[in-house]
Amino acid sequence: MDKNFVIGPHQVSFDITNKCNLRCLHCYNSSGTNLQSENELTDIEVLKFIDEFKNIKLLNFCFCGGETLLRKDLILKCCKKLKEYDCYNLSIVTNGILLTNKVADELIAAGINKIQVSLDGINPHSHDYLRNKKGAFSGAINAIKILSEKNVDTGIAFTPTSYNIEEIVGVRDLMLDYGITRSTLRVQPLMIMGRATENLAKILPSSKQYRKLVKIVRDLNLESKGLQIDWGDPIDHLIRFTEQKFLTNNCTIRCNGEIIVDPYLPLVVGNLRKHSFREYWEAGFRDIWNSELVKKLSQCVLSIKDMDLQNNTYLPEIFKNGDVYIDLIDDDFNKSQNLLIKDFVG
Ligand code: SF4
Repeated sequence: MDKNFVIGPHQVSFDITNKCNLRCLHCYNSSGTNLQSENELTDIEVLKFIDEFKNIKLLNFCFCGGETLLRKDLILKCCKKLKEYDCYNLSIVTNGILLTNKVADELIAAGINKIQVSLDGINPHSHDYLRNKKGAFSGAINAIKILSEKNVDTGIAFTPTSYNIEEIVGVRDLMLDYGITRSTLRVQPLMIMGRATENLAKILPSSKQYRKLVKIVRDLNLESKGLQIDWGDPIDHLIRFTEQKFLTNNCTIRCNGEIIVDPYLPLVVGNLRKHSFREYWEAGFRDIWNSELVKKLSQCVLSIKDMDLQNNTYLPEIFKNGDVYIDLIDDDFNKSQNLLIKDFVG
């Protein structure tokens, strides 16, 4: 595909807020307490960003967070525009606590066609422990029940921890009991990032448990008919994206406007408060996976434990204490003017 003909990504994941009504032990971006949550884009800035997709036929726009429903009214406004701009899929992730019958109807009427709720077990104590709040389980179950009665694709995200691996079977059964058969039960390894780094001793599964989980996922997929049990491996995409001359397909925008290459790499390449998304796209974001710096960074993340950036033995020091910002437009990214990075890229 000629990169000059690609005018935008197919998918956008946008953290519409990093505020949250929970403080989960594993939250990979420390939602609720991180610096970005106090500096999020205003409603006007968000809507201006959304307007950039007027001429890009997006396949999927996903509202992530934080707890997305804390900015529900803004989401509804965004959806109205994105539908006008022919975005094919509009999706949202939520912990479910704020999802009432009325909210579900509003989201669906606005064009949201996939809602993913987090559920970390079938034992209320398992979910509430990880979610760090008593009653979080009943909120999630209530949301799943409401959604199962509506005409909307209801996905569930399950986080494996040292104490809940086998509960994935019960979560699958619950989906089938509620008639949720044409959707996805999403599982991916616990990310050793954000708040998870403070709680590893309590929640990190062992290698043996992961092996068991992969086997359970395989067996469940064989017997779950239309329901797909999806094992998402972040290392897999880091390898594929950098080795296949990949044009940027899926991009992630943080709630403060930062444009990142990937949630698992410590690199910010722009901010919507400085330049438009289109300008970053044309300045090189469209083939950022082919840049030497991104390839080198990806090669530093070889296993899940390498996501613990502070203890990553492959990364140069400069990347270990938070994200490095190199603006694709203002900093002449490809010349890697930062000497420490220049040495790394070679
Ligand atoms: S994992 Fe989700 S629900 Fe939990 S604190 Fe983070 S954003 Fe909130």
